Amino acid sequence: MSTMSRLIHCIDCSTIYALTPFDTTPEYRGSGFGNEVVRVEKNDRVYFDGMHSDHNQEELAIIAPALYSEGAYFDPCRVTYLTATNGKETFLIKKWRRHIDEALRYDLVDGLLDVKETVSIQKDDLRKQLACEIKDPLLSEEKMQAFIDLFQEEALQSGSEQEPGEACASNYAHICFKPLTEEQIARILSRCRVVFTQEEWKRLAGFVMNNCQANGVMSVAIRKTAMLASASYQSRVMKWSQQVFNQP
Ligand SMILES: [Zn+2]
Repeated sequence: MSTMSRLIHCIDCSTIYALTPFDTTPEYRGSGFGNEVVRVEKNDRVYFDGMHSDHNQEELAIIAPALYSEGAYFDPCRVTYLTATNGKETFLIKKWRRHIDEALRYDLVDGLLDVKETVSIQKDDLRKQLACEIKDPLLSEEKMQAFIDLFQEEALQSGSEQEPGEACASNYAHICFKPLTEEQIARILSRCRVVFTQEEWKRLAGFVMNNCQANGVMSVAIRKTAMLASASYQSRVMKWSQQVFNQP
């Protein structure tokens, strides 16, 4: 059985209802008398149909279950945007809860979500880790900077887009850490041979091996940001530009 929710759209009310496999699971609540717990029969589908029984409804198919999400995975109030379709139109839906005790809400959002990705290296953490692992003698400031520059160039150069199913370690929905590929590691080490002494190279090679996992300081940080362009804003801009460009 799929645990994925099915989305029902009440066309008349512009309301979304998520049909989950747990709809008929009874809830247990304190009765208010000491430690007594009462069983509350629950059937949200019946409740929804009761509210909207004579309205036009359609089922939506989810296209992107997490188009954009921000915040910690463990935060129950984290907001996730998803897209779903009735086969003709695509809907932007905000999945969230107002309070930790509340059920998830699914709200139709009027507009478009523009999701952008920025890729960066973890420069400060990398510098700290280098100073911590490479001692006696420390790398000179110039050499440290040379290593960071060289690493940054290689890490950000070749396609940093995340491929589906790729290992990605993060507690936050909008940040993920992508480990270096074997090819990138090989290129970094080979370029280092030219810049560093044999002894420095050996220690840097050890450092790269120690820190190249997804949770290491040599992984690349991919951060998503999203901008909501509301439909009403778009039509205002359209109107404004028509006025401007239609002037004689
Ligand atoms: Zn309705």
